[in-house]
Amino acid sequence: MNICIVGTGYVGLVSAACFAEMGNAVTCVDINPKVIEGLKKGEVHIYEPGLEAMVRRNFQEGRLTFTTDLSEGLKDSLFVFCCVGTPEGEDGTADLRYVHQVARDVGRHMHDYKIIVDKSTVPVGTADSVRATVQEELDKRGLKVEFDVVSNPEFLKEGDAVNDFMKPDRVVVGTDNVRTAELLKSLYAPYARSREKMIVMGVRSAEMTKYAANCMLATKISFINEIANICEKVGADVRDVRHGIGADHRIGYQFIYPGVGYGGSCFPKDVKALIGTAQGVGYEPQLLCAVDEVNDRQKTVIARKIESYFAEQGGVKGKTLALWGLAFKANTDDMREAPSLELIRHLTGLGMRVQAFDPVAGPNARRILADNPLVTICEDQYAALKGASALAVVTEWNQFRNPEFAKIKKALTAPILFDGRNLYSPALMAAEGFAYFCVGR
Ligand code: NAD
Repeated sequence: MNICIVGTGYVGLVSAACFAEMGNAVTCVDINPKVIEGLKKGEVHIYEPGLEAMVRRNFQEGRLTFTTDLSEGLKDSLFVFCCVGTPEGEDGTADLRYVHQVARDVGRHMHDYKIIVDKSTVPVGTADSVRATVQEELDKRGLKVEFDVVSNPEFLKEGDAVNDFMKPDRVVVGTDNVRTAELLKSLYAPYARSREKMIVMGVRSAEMTKYAANCMLATKISFINEIANICEKVGADVRDVRHGIGADHRIGYQFIYPGVGYGGSCFPKDVKALIGTAQGVGYEPQLLCAVDEVNDRQKTVIARKIESYFAEQGGVKGKTLALWGLAFKANTDDMREAPSLELIRHLTGLGMRVQAFDPVAGPNARRILADNPLVTICEDQYAALKGASALAVVTEWNQFRNPEFAKIKKALTAPILFDGRNLYSPALMAAEGFAYFCVGR
């Protein structure tokens, strides 16, 4: 099948490569010429395990092409996937300017029947407004061309996006048109191999499903963080509690790891967007507001522990913190809404210096933190420790799980470790001679 993917970020480029991998002809369109020029040279601008090899192979074999010209992408395509960003707007609701720009451009350039697929995360009702925008542009051109607008939210997670796309738990398609549903079913047949994995529903329900899924996951994280904070106060160990509750199949072990709060380009904005949607229709979403508030507080949990530890030693001002992990989670270079940024902002605001290391997010962090003179991004995890008063770990990269503790001790001015991901055991840390602070234990 011929497919046009508009927006080549985490969702668009992964979708494009995975569609091409199954033999489809895919044209990727992005307004960023630097990104497109790079892709044409085989340079992938985002970090996602397995993606670069897949992009290069399909590009070389002619199934994947890149352009900044939407009309080129539309020429032979039946499907037009909208994969552009929907960031948080000033009032917390989703900013749909990129989605509507794509709708306008598609309406201006299409000549024959298209299935326009909203893969971006968009509030309920967006398919209707996209349809109206495309129709408006067609009317301006005096053209009578049929088209459908379908909702097909994406559930991949950064860090494992290729696997998620190739083997999805489910594919949700929102459309009332039986023929369009059948076409999407055949497109996704190689991925969603069992029938029950293809879930077809109304457009509004599909749009809502994406927000409900992300809000459920965010709720699980805020829930376990709340439990962890209570555990700390009452002398319980949240790791044991997690085991105790996760064994219940109705609860399960997944997504109940306590830590420094959720970040990234999806959960924070999607929780806020659904709050906005609910309030817009006169409903006060108390639970979602609490999820968001608990998370905001959790993002500073390690900074507060550091501040309080050093309070008796003249405060953090002038001291240096070694920081392991900058990305919002492991296996990604994505720094959007990363808890590390909140920690850095808080502590450098008090005059503390930060020497940070991340296996892949270093360059992105350097750009974001360029105007903060108290931050140094290091090239090596042990180099970040040199002369620091303590180490804080905030991203659960595998290479931090079993470090050389003797080397850490030697490089720090004192053996103090703040663990925002509960990577180490308190007993081991005590045996290694560290003052050790974690979450919920
Ligand atoms: P991203 O910021 O990585 O990429 C968006 C791309 O769209 C950019 O390259 C940008 O240049 C391009 N773009 C913007 N306007 C354009 C236009 N008019 N024409 C062509 N290209 C244009 O975004 P992302 O993380 O891939 O997210 C895209 C959407 O998917 C969002 O709605 C997001 O909420 C949703 N989503 C993201 C994830 C994730 O893990 N990142 C997972 C599921 C869903």
